[in-house]
Amino acid sequence: MTDGCAICSRAIPPAKLVYQDELWSVRHSDETNILGYLILQSRRHILDLSEATEEEASSYGSVLCELMSSIRKTIDCERIYTFSLAEMVPHFHVHLIPRTGYMPRIFRGRGVMSYPLQPVADPHLVESTCDRLRRQLRFQEIR
Ligand SMILES: [Zn+2]
Repeated sequence: MTDGCAICSRAIPPAKLVYQDELWSVRHSDETNILGYLILQSRRHILDLSEATEEEASSYGSVLCELMSSIRKTIDCERIYTFSLAEMVPHFHVHLIPRTGYMPRIFRGRGVMSYPLQPVADPHLVESTCDRLRRQLRFQEIR
């Protein structure tokens, strides 16, 4: 844990915690109104995968794969955008954003970066989406 880091210092509310093991946590984003927008974050404070342990590096792919499958089974989407920037919070985290068929064209592809942060999604819808996402995961470890 690193003092002052927004990820290290912030506990994930249980309703938004989709998956967690000793290496990774996955939460539903609380920015935007996009349901199924997940954030995969390392439990350790690292900037990017160049600092990952062998264990983190080898589990990363299967966790990401499992999350994407869960999103596909839960959200009717045409693409799942994944990226990591770590500019605002220098702690490794990956955005997984389902892009539905009804997302306006202006926000598709790189346009997703300008997707409005407000309004946020209805908290009840987020919770039920998280329940559905959790049920679709083959491994359901939450510690
Ligand atoms: Zn951190």
